[in-house]
Amino acid sequence: MRRKFDPFRQSTGGWIFHCDADAFYAACHMAEQSYLHDRPLAVAGDAKTRHGIIVTANYIARKFGIKTGMNLNSARQLCPQLTVITPDKALYRRYSEDLHKIFRQYTSLIEPLSLDEAWLDMTESLALGQDPRPVAKELQDRVRKDVGITVSIGISINKMLAKQVSDWSKPSGLTVLTGGEVRSRLWNRPMLELFGCGPATSHKMAEIGIEDIGDLAQWPLSDILHQWGHHGLQLYLRAWGKDWTPVSSPSIADRRSVSAEHTTAADLSAVEDVWPWLQLCAQEVAERLRQLDLVGYRVGIKWRTPNFVTHNRQMMSHRPLNSADTIYWYARKLWNTANCPVRLVGISVSVLETPSRQLRFWDN
Ligand SMILES: [Mg+2]
Repeated sequence: MRRKFDPFRQSTGGWIFHCDADAFYAACHMAEQSYLHDRPLAVAGDAKTRHGIIVTANYIARKFGIKTGMNLNSARQLCPQLTVITPDKALYRRYSEDLHKIFRQYTSLIEPLSLDEAWLDMTESLALGQDPRPVAKELQDRVRKDVGITVSIGISINKMLAKQVSDWSKPSGLTVLTGGEVRSRLWNRPMLELFGCGPATSHKMAEIGIEDIGDLAQWPLSDILHQWGHHGLQLYLRAWGKDWTPVSSPSIADRRSVSAEHTTAADLSAVEDVWPWLQLCAQEVAERLRQLDLVGYRVGIKWRTPNFVTHNRQMMSHRPLNSADTIYWYARKLWNTANCPVRLVGISVSVLETPSRQLRFWDN
């Protein structure tokens, strides 16, 4: 389904759910093995090397201060009894399929964001006048019983607001924000919480006195446009709770690239510290390409310096790419021309096509 922009549309006229599994990778392992239930658990890039980084930590580990992006050494210092497991993509895929199977029992209009996150357009089954909580609770119960993990759900009148509120009360959170509550419940939140507002923008906005979302909403629009252009307008509209994008399953034809990126907990200052992050991104991109049944011909890397300057490099491959190893090989090659320190690393693969079309090409 193609996205159509309709400036007069403010919402679908129904409730939008943003469903997001809690500590998904860790939760899958806990659901598999009951002995993990009451232990601090982390899933880390490569547990054997000192470069291992925490991909996800369960809520028990988080109480010790363990966070995504932390390196394994620091995590072990905070919590010596931490159980560390290496990622098992096949396991996550299986749980993700089960989770999405349950989503599909509630609506046919689903836009997946990642393995464990999706928007559900509930317009067909729930009118705006109806309380969406019982249905959401039932969905949560079903996921808990049938899949063995928990999801948090944000509910609102459009996609952006639903995503905005889904992590307000994690884990197993259920938050409803009506259109009329934007002023009273969204405006007192810090700018950084606004979907699409990064640390660089929030920092610059704070300098001129825009501290929370309400400040932005009430700031003269001409000033915002002057300083931040289109991005500023987008944030301004979001601060007012305006979002017109419909929930739509993106078709493969619409997809231009597949990418993954990670913000690191601390700045990476050595060139080789970046390698495991590139490896992780390469694995995630390869996984996504496999799910979508696509191959690509161009690899790009992206990195951001501590002063928030973003750099990009890319190169073409004459052979179709979809394996993590090959994508990582290109990324490493590109990374050799880059330099530290960095705080964000990403990889994208573009110039996509389906392997079947490629076969046809060879047939010709
Ligand atoms: Mg999640």
